[in-house]
Amino acid sequence: MERTLIIFKPDAMEQALVGRILARFEAAHLRIVAMKMIRLDDVLLREHYAHLAERPFFGAIVAYMTSRPVVIAVLEGEGAIAVVREMTGATDPSLAEKGTIRRDFGKDKTHNVIHSSDSQEGARAEIKRFFKADELF
Ligand code: ADP
Repeated sequence: MERTLIIFKPDAMEQALVGRILARFEAAHLRIVAMKMIRLDDVLLREHYAHLAERPFFGAIVAYMTSRPVVIAVLEGEGAIAVVREMTGATDPSLAEKGTIRRDFGKDKTHNVIHSSDSQEGARAEIKRFFKADELF
């Protein structure tokens, strides 16, 4: 069993896509083990997107991701990290495979609907960053 973290980005929130996207994950045998709604802040995002801190679009991502509250969840299942990444699709929705969440609902590289952890190490760090031990079930 593996755990992975997803964030419903502001465009998913604005388009009211949380239920539809969660239904896809649940249908793929992934179980919700934690979930909450929060407003991200600069400190959290500087950690979360540390690998992008030097990129020219970094400020725009932070502004976008703090623009409205987001829903964050931890999903659990067999091979959850890879399964969720595959269902998420490529960063650029126009290049994402047909049937992926980003291809179906995303607009561009900024408005690409959800974040999902990309490795075991990443998932562990992200889950710890956003949830306390007693918020995981
Ligand atoms: P992913 O979310 O697919 O794992 P990254 O970790 O590389 O991708 O980037 C994190 C987020 O930063 C992306 O989801 C996207 O919203 C944003 N981003 C990445 N590259 C670009 C880019 N070239 N232009 C604008 N935004 C970008």
